[in-house]
Order: sequence, then C-alpha cells, then structure tokens
Amino acid sequence: MAGRRDPAVAASDQWLDDEGVREPRGSVHAWRMGTNQTLCGIPLHKAGLRRFPHVLWLDARWLADTTDQRLVLCHRCAAATGERTARRSWTRWRPRP
Ligand SMILES: [Zn+2]
Repeated sequence: MAGRRDPAVAASDQWLDDEGVREPRGSVHAWRMGTNQTLCGIPLHKAGLRRFPHVLWLDARWLADTTDQRLVLCHRCAAATGERTARRSWTRWRPRP
C-alpha cells in the first residue's frame, strides 16, 4: 500500500480497463486528495479535469508505459512529485542545469 502522501491524479479524459475501472488518459496531472488544484497549480474545475482518487501518480506513469492509451504526464507535476518522493523514479524528469 502506498503512503497516504502519494499524490493521486487528475486527467482530461478517461477510459475503462479490463475490470471496468476508470483510468486516466489525455493530459494527466498529479493531484492531492482534499485539494482543488493540481500540483502544478491548475484549478481542476476550470480546466475540466476529472479526479482519479484511486489512481496514484506512480500508477499513471506505469499506465503510460504499459498501455496503448495516450497519457501525457505533466512535466511540472512530475518535478513537483519527484522532490517529495523516491528520487530514483524521477531521473528522467530531472531538469537540465
Ligand atoms: Zn501538472
């Protein structure tokens, strides 16, 4: 079980997996439950983003790599989460000096 502080995701679109579970697609941002905006500061309701409290950011990254669905993970959110969680996973997103 992931830690309670791990961010979930908000996305512009959704699809159903084999088990009928809603999964994110389109523009995918990190989102913390209890807040009304993404980690990069976009207000959910204004941007029309759907919340996926059952999908963690890490899961969305995994989905992007393992499914045919188009998930565009927000770089700014990736950077924001990378600073707070395990660094080893975020090497790809490290900004250039
Ligand atoms: Zn974002």
